[in-house]
Amino acid sequence: MRILISGAAGFLGSHLTDLLLSQGHDLVGVDNFLTGKPQNIAHLRGVNPRYTFIEADVIQPLKLDGPLDRVYHMASPASPVGYAKHQVATLKVNSQGTWNLLELCQAKNARFLMASTSECYGDPAVHPQREDYWGNVNPIGLRSMYDEAKRFSEACTKASNRERKVDTRIIRIFNTYGPRMDPYDGRVVISFIRQALNNEPLTVFGEGTQTRSLCYVSDLVRGINLTMESDFCEPINLGNPDELTILQIARDILELIPQSKSIITHHPMPPDDPRLRCPDITRAKQILGWSPVVPRKEGLKKMIDFYRDQLIKK
Ligand code: NAD
Ligand code: UDP
Repeated sequence: MRILISGAAGFLGSHLTDLLLSQGHDLVGVDNFLTGKPQNIAHLRGVNPRYTFIEADVIQPLKLDGPLDRVYHMASPASPVGYAKHQVATLKVNSQGTWNLLELCQAKNARFLMASTSECYGDPAVHPQREDYWGNVNPIGLRSMYDEAKRFSEACTKASNRERKVDTRIIRIFNTYGPRMDPYDGRVVISFIRQALNNEPLTVFGEGTQTRSLCYVSDLVRGINLTMESDFCEPINLGNPDELTILQIARDILELIPQSKSIITHHPMPPDDPRLRCPDITRAKQILGWSPVVPRKEGLKKMIDFYRDQLIKK
């Protein structure tokens, strides 16, 4: 197949590209490097003959010659620091960007997958989160440029499916970690690893009793691909139900970097920070036969090994 990925130079987009190339497909990567990095695709760009890269902003309509079978819409700032810095760009890539790619799919008769998020559930009143929970989101809060944009993007996707008969899929991704995350985008796992490797204090926000559920990237991209190739058009949660407190994440990372001299420090809690987050993945298990297989400490160890040399301050 010929497959387009928006956000191809990002953390998830680049790993998804590697998976799809390993299956023998032709890939077209699109990215404007808003939060992604050229080094994430340096092993592909100009190297792999089945990989084409287009530097473009998907907020503008994309001109693409030739047939197209699949579009994975992964483009969007994804960290609270990233979308606070790029508020309008986040709203636009998940609205105009989504429309542009949906219309490209309609024109090319291609299947579309929208990378949505657990943030659609906001600070959830239902725990763990099932796909039929509608969420608890502040529409004007400091996360709203992301939460509401993703909810709108899901609505665009469903409307195109119902009214224009575009073949669509929606995934709601829960916190994922692994190599190629931007060390400075403020997300919790990479921040704690960077701090621990540099003997700097680990910055736990609040008491650290808020929870997240961490999924290793290889599990996640396998689930994304299975969703695309399934017949199922309703949203599917993808994540690892291995729920733990932020304080426990900090302790795990310090345990895995025993030479670190870092201590745990506490800082003010950001506004609207969800207190709990854990996916109910019954649907993914039933529809896709998918569940994560990489244990947390194994995934964290792989990620630490990836960053060990490049992050230590010389
Ligand atoms: P990332 O920031 O590493 O990657 C996003 C990529 O999109 C970047 O390369 C960025 O440059 C690109 N991009 C942004 N706006 C663009 C535009 N207008 N045109 C072209 N490219 C653009 O983030 P990620 O963690 O890889 O997230 C990928 C997707 O998955 C996002 O849509 C995000 O909302 C979603 N998601 C990720 C997680 C996670 O834990 N990683 C959780 C929930 C949802
Ligand atoms: N967090 C933290 N210290 C940090 C970064 C994040 O305590 O340096 C907390 C944050 O308050 C949130 C959780 O870790 O409760 C996950 O934050 P992240 O930015 O990774 O993503 P989120 O799940 O909030 O989108």
